[in-house]
Amino acid sequence: SAKEQGRNRYHYFTASMQEEAQHRRQLANDLRQALKNDQLQLHYQPIVDLATGHISKAEALIRWQHPDLGLVSPADFIPVAEETGIIVEIGDWVFRQAAHQTARWRASHHRDFQISINKSPVQFRDGASDISCWLKHLQALGLPGQAVIVEITEGLLLDASKTVTDKLLAFRDAGIQVSLDDFGTGYSSLSYIKKFHIDNIKIDQSFVCNLKANSDDMALCEAIIVMAHTLGMKVVAEGIETEEQRVLLTAAGCDYGQGYLFSKPLPENEFSRLLPIAIPKPKGVCCE
Ligand code: C2E
Ligand code: MG
Ligand code: MG
Ligand code: MG
Repeated sequence: SAKEQGRNRYHYFTASMQEEAQHRRQLANDLRQALKNDQLQLHYQPIVDLATGHISKAEALIRWQHPDLGLVSPADFIPVAEETGIIVEIGDWVFRQAAHQTARWRASHHRDFQISINKSPVQFRDGASDISCWLKHLQALGLPGQAVIVEITEGLLLDASKTVTDKLLAFRDAGIQVSLDDFGTGYSSLSYIKKFHIDNIKIDQSFVCNLKANSDDMALCEAIIVMAHTLGMKVVAEGIETEEQRVLLTAAGCDYGQGYLFSKPLPENEFSRLLPIAIPKPKGVCCE
């Protein structure tokens, strides 16, 4: 009967929810172990100056080599880390690791090289100020705040408390830049940008992946670039996969590009080899 079917469905549903909850608990425990047992790694993806083809920055992206599950995507474990608060420890680990590597790259290759680090909203809500720790760490490495960019998402600004605002101001005072990640996918509001002194906007890859001349996405990208420049911000386009996308974005005045066309995220030794190499300018686009 329909009633039985409904009940069966109900049982099925709760069973899978329990499994899901169990899976997440397991993942949370495993994550704690991962931190202790060196299973976390950072990969670095170049952020290229579109006018020169030089690698100016890198985004640090976390990877987890799970002993049984293999490589687990951050899209799967970052939410669990956020729910359980483990993200605070992970975030500190990411920062220390990335800062250390950046100090080496600035010394060996490129004195203005910057590292862009994703910071979860949960890390902002955490009362304890990690900023003074971060600054001490930078000082110990001989790094200025200008070496670091923090990537935040629009959601953070939507319900920004005093804690959030204070942390953003502290970054600014220290010379640490702020990038607005995945721009255009959240509750984009121009008033946030004015209020929070954002340095860079990262156009979300969903606007870039189907980019064609004279398309709606092209019009959106152009509008974002003009607005950002008018307000003194720089623009990074995420998810550039084709030469055509790079040519269109470069012609539209986009400052930086990131995506598989240039390179996927790489382990640090492979990134070190790529760093001195300028990626040739696109053909047919004049950059002075
Ligand atoms: P995100 O910050 O927007 O990072 C960009 C994502 O796009 C990365 O996925 C990157 O590998 C991917 N990507 C780069 N170029 C291309 C491209 O040309 N095409 C396509 N299709 N994808 C491209 P990834 O590494 O899987 O990271 C996913 C998300 O996980 C990140 O999105 C970020 O929100 C989060 N995440 C990664 N590392 C950290 C971290 O250390 N801390 C925190 N809080 N979040 C992190
Ligand atoms: Mg990011
Ligand atoms: Mg992004
Ligand atoms: Mg994203």
